[in-house]
Amino acid sequence: MVKDGIQRRKSITAKIGQLEIGGNHPISVQSMTNCDTKDTYRTIQQIKRLEKAGCDLVRIALPDMDSCRFIPEIKRNTRIPIMADIHFNYHIALEAMRYNIDGIRINPGNIRKEEQIFHIIEVAQKKNIMIRFGVNAGSLDSKIMEKYKEPKYEAIVEETETILTFLKKIDYHNIVLSIKSSDILDTIKANEKIAEICDYPLHIGITEAGFDQKGIIKSAIGIGIMLYKGIGDTIRVSLSGDPVKEVLVGHDILRSIGVRKKGINIIACPTCGRCKVDIHGIGRKIEKKLRNIRQPLTIAIMGCIVNGPGEAKSSDAGIAFNQEEGMLYVKGQFVGRYNTDESINKLVQAVKQMAKETDQILIS
Ligand code: SF4
Repeated sequence: MVKDGIQRRKSITAKIGQLEIGGNHPISVQSMTNCDTKDTYRTIQQIKRLEKAGCDLVRIALPDMDSCRFIPEIKRNTRIPIMADIHFNYHIALEAMRYNIDGIRINPGNIRKEEQIFHIIEVAQKKNIMIRFGVNAGSLDSKIMEKYKEPKYEAIVEETETILTFLKKIDYHNIVLSIKSSDILDTIKANEKIAEICDYPLHIGITEAGFDQKGIIKSAIGIGIMLYKGIGDTIRVSLSGDPVKEVLVGHDILRSIGVRKKGINIIACPTCGRCKVDIHGIGRKIEKKLRNIRQPLTIAIMGCIVNGPGEAKSSDAGIAFNQEEGMLYVKGQFVGRYNTDESINKLVQAVKQMAKETDQILIS
């Protein structure tokens, strides 16, 4: 049980590097670099930024054999587990494992030969390398597509069932499944079905969700509904643009539904004609200053004295504005009245202090 009303599906545990996925382990947030993997400087910098944002696992594209030789340098300079994204050529998977990659993502839609997958698993087993089988509506088997004409959820389920049948033949369990479509309902229905018939950890997300607001909304609805149904052991928010945003949104989704409380939860009023300060701007400033706090703390930023003092008092720290004056509350106690900048600084100081006290903080 992770939260009243949400019963998480029971799954076995998979392990990639030091990260455990499934079982009772916290739902992890992952992302993927979007620069050329051979440009190791940019790849390492991007992974470092992702780590700082709270990314638990990162995937890198390995489009050819040559790109595998950069794995050791990337691993040496980063901390989180690295998963290789492999398509079409199973030799790349073997080569990546030779360079000690932490995990392999293969798409059974484009590496279809059983003997090739057996070979990958044989090598993975020797090194306990996690394998993620990623079924994607955009690359289903041609026979399945002939049968269903379009990549609807029944087609996705049938393709995944083929993998499950295959997995029964092997004795290797360091495996994660992902079943994705850009259609939210197809993704949910397919994951529901597969969650019922196997106990592998599930990586969930809405693939190719798009960018900005639309992509975030699609992901929040799709991932949120699956989490509410207890489905999902690791998530990726797929957004075009800077991957750091995927991680921040991923954590926001987990926080909003209450399944992972890591980090700052901001309560801010929508403002109305009573508000005399820029709550949005103040909220953004505070959020930026506290971005690296990992301690689960709730902060209220409220525009006036109607609901402000109540929300501020019941949060870990809060400011209730009265005209342009900020009334600061910490742990339910009134601390003092300050001008806008002072109240921001004092709140940030108080939150950092609270986080330090429990020694679970990453301050830049
Ligand atoms: S807290 Fe005050 S300013 Fe904010 S929405 Fe409510 S009434 Fe308006």
